[in-house]
Amino acid sequence: MTAPVDDRLTSHSSGPSKSCAFCRPLNSYVSLKMKNQKKEQRYKIGRYVHCLEQSNEINDDHIFPSAWYPDDTPGTVERWTIPCCVKCNREHGANEQELLIRMGLCISPKDVRATGVAFRALRSISPQSGKNNRDKSARQMKRVTILKDIEVVKNSPVFGIFPNFGADPTIHYDDYTVINVPAGGLIKLGEKIVRGLTYHFERRFIEKEKEQIDIFFLQDQDAAEIVNLAKRYGESIHRGPGILVTRAVTTDDTRAAIFIIEIWGRLKVYALLQPKRNDLS
Ligand SMILES: [Zn+2]
Repeated sequence: MTAPVDDRLTSHSSGPSKSCAFCRPLNSYVSLKMKNQKKEQRYKIGRYVHCLEQSNEINDDHIFPSAWYPDDTPGTVERWTIPCCVKCNREHGANEQELLIRMGLCISPKDVRATGVAFRALRSISPQSGKNNRDKSARQMKRVTILKDIEVVKNSPVFGIFPNFGADPTIHYDDYTVINVPAGGLIKLGEKIVRGLTYHFERRFIEKEKEQIDIFFLQDQDAAEIVNLAKRYGESIHRGPGILVTRAVTTDDTRAAIFIIEIWGRLKVYALLQPKRNDLS
């Protein structure tokens, strides 16, 4: 393409023509430009991915919490973001911080899949890491809450252990430290990631009255079937050493999809996105 775009537009009174060979590349240019304009417009009008409200004020929310990326995640790995409102951003941020502390305390500082994560969890409850007095006392309060919720038991618990977060059966300890992780918080995180990934890949919103997201946490042996299905028909994308996403979308209805989100090789979120029963038509 050598001629300036404006010159080409004047060669047809009604703009570029599809039947004109000279105009063909220009048509694709125009449609691309229109696509970009639509995207910008959508951002300006603004619809939030999580609560689906509309507004002119758009914030960026990280699909994967930025503090959850291991330290050795290359700078070239884009930290995907989606449009989000201040309220949702704050709520998800608090939930993710709570989960990071509790799960981060269960991760070895030597785990190469989660470099720096255990340290970040500890720092969140270390008053000396506070930026100012207010921050120091917030960290101290959090420390007290977390310590109260930690239980020391003589034997490795058998029931209620979160998949992949149990004690290493090949090592014997004199006692075992147990901490609760809120199930509701994990489901909230899973739903948020599915909404975010769907927006990222398809530029569409998951409509609450028409679609449903089911989140599962499974032992590896119970997940074999869903893993085979997702890997056979889907695509896996690494977001650095700590995050792997596998997503398979059905061809007949793109609203039906399987997601497997693996964080630090340990937190495995299985999600099923599908139309609600009354919206199958
Ligand atoms: Zn919102």
